[in-house]
Amino acid sequence: MKRALINIDYTNDFVADHGALTCGKPGQMIEKDLVQLTKHFIENGDYTVFAVDCHEGNDPFHPESTLYPPHNIAGTDGRELYGELYEVYETASGMDNVHYLDKTRYSAFAGTDLELRLRERGIEEVHLVGVCTDICVLHTAVDAYNKGFRIVIHQNAVASFSNEGHQWALGHFKNSMNAEIR
Ligand code: ZN
Repeated sequence: MKRALINIDYTNDFVADHGALTCGKPGQMIEKDLVQLTKHFIENGDYTVFAVDCHEGNDPFHPESTLYPPHNIAGTDGRELYGELYEVYETASGMDNVHYLDKTRYSAFAGTDLELRLRERGIEEVHLVGVCTDICVLHTAVDAYNKGFRIVIHQNAVASFSNEGHQWALGHFKNSMNAEIR
């Protein structure tokens, strides 16, 4: 079965201590596993998508504007990939199997061509890593499920600011989406 890795929102704003909307320590603690998995997928020739939130500075029409402080603003340091993942992407960008995808909603499928890209390549199984387990990873998984993709969640490479939310989402992936928790 052809597989793809969807690497979600692992940026300074969502992970670093000074990030605008950070998960903090739980997000930082998955760096090693997330980086290792990402390298493995890229080197193996699997399709690897960096699905990264992209916002405008002042957008009163965006639904998140009333929910969160501004984050992942285009062109800012906050939107850069965090830690070692930055180097991993810089080294791999330009490879045929590596794709950087701007997204503007929680789900990497919402308003993007992600589904077309996966279908074109005959991909049936999506592996999800990144943050937050119970927000952007969850919404991406829900869309993947509804579109008929098999889902694998790497539990040591997803994190949330809320341990309760993280644990709930892992249960939901497994029990309601038949996802494999690895
Ligand atoms: Zn956002």
